[in-house]
Amino acid sequence: MGTLDITYSRAELSARKRLLTFMWCTLLPMLACCSGSRESGVIEKYGMAESIEGRSIAEQAILLVNLVLPPEVPTRLEATWPSCGYFPAQTFAGKSGGFATTFVTGHGFDNGVVFTNADIVKVFLLDGDLLGNIETAFVPEGEHYIFINSRSLERLFQAFYMSGTEAMQQHNSFDKALVLALVMLHEVGHIHFRDSGKYVKPARLNLEEIGKPSGTITNREVRADRYATEILQIAWLSKEMKSPLYGPYGRAFISSNVFRAIATGSNSFDFRRDPRGILNGKPNPALFKQTGYSHLNIYVRLLVMLQQLDPAEDQMKELRWIDEMFAKNQSPR
Ligand SMILES: [Zn+2]
Repeated sequence: MGTLDITYSRAELSARKRLLTFMWCTLLPMLACCSGSRESGVIEKYGMAESIEGRSIAEQAILLVNLVLPPEVPTRLEATWPSCGYFPAQTFAGKSGGFATTFVTGHGFDNGVVFTNADIVKVFLLDGDLLGNIETAFVPEGEHYIFINSRSLERLFQAFYMSGTEAMQQHNSFDKALVLALVMLHEVGHIHFRDSGKYVKPARLNLEEIGKPSGTITNREVRADRYATEILQIAWLSKEMKSPLYGPYGRAFISSNVFRAIATGSNSFDFRRDPRGILNGKPNPALFKQTGYSHLNIYVRLLVMLQQLDPAEDQMKELRWIDEMFAKNQSPR
């Protein structure tokens, strides 16, 4: 094969250089997304396998959680896989003094946020094949980690009607990250209250408890959900719709969007399943029956969270109706 004698003009050369720079900037994050975790010891200890599926969405969810948490709370999540490079960088630093959040702006690709002296909770993304029938996320007994079952992510997004055949529209990865951020905030609640990872009896809903501060709620699943909605309420009250970082990262903005994700899940369920029989006159409260191993039915939880974030008499009426139906049938919720 002969060699090709190709000469380029200065303009062509600079265009090729730009293309190579673009490819490098695009491929490098992709390679990082596919490389191994920095924390394989923990994964091995639990006999798990890490997953590369869902890394990008999980990284954005971690960023959303870290930015929505109040500045005075030092807990912050850290991904155990290399950054994909699509989002503002999250860096952890240790120094003398208290917890601090510092935004880095004006540095182009290096813009991001530095958390100094954070109480770090590492997040592991695992291959669900070895996890059996578990929830999307959990905190292993006595650990300061969050394990995410990557295989259950799609099921989670479908449950929130963000994707799949029953979704009103196919939502983007930002919306999916909002859903996962809510799940992660629930797990941060478990860590905050030092809940063990042990099996507990299916949770029962006590309507008297749902409006109370999380610290006074006895049902630990309701308490972890309440912790999440409290964080969202504090973020909403900050009125910070914009962040120093470029992108959808204002605390109040994140909060209102998580609220939208919860409302999408709840409203789509009402529309698709019609549990109160509004369209056909046949109420079907069994649709609110518990399906998970320890959590309440997800749509009851979404209604409770909506009621906590934006109390409305109609929602409360629906919760009382669900409660009465279950009390009558004495079936577990
Ligand atoms: Zn839980």
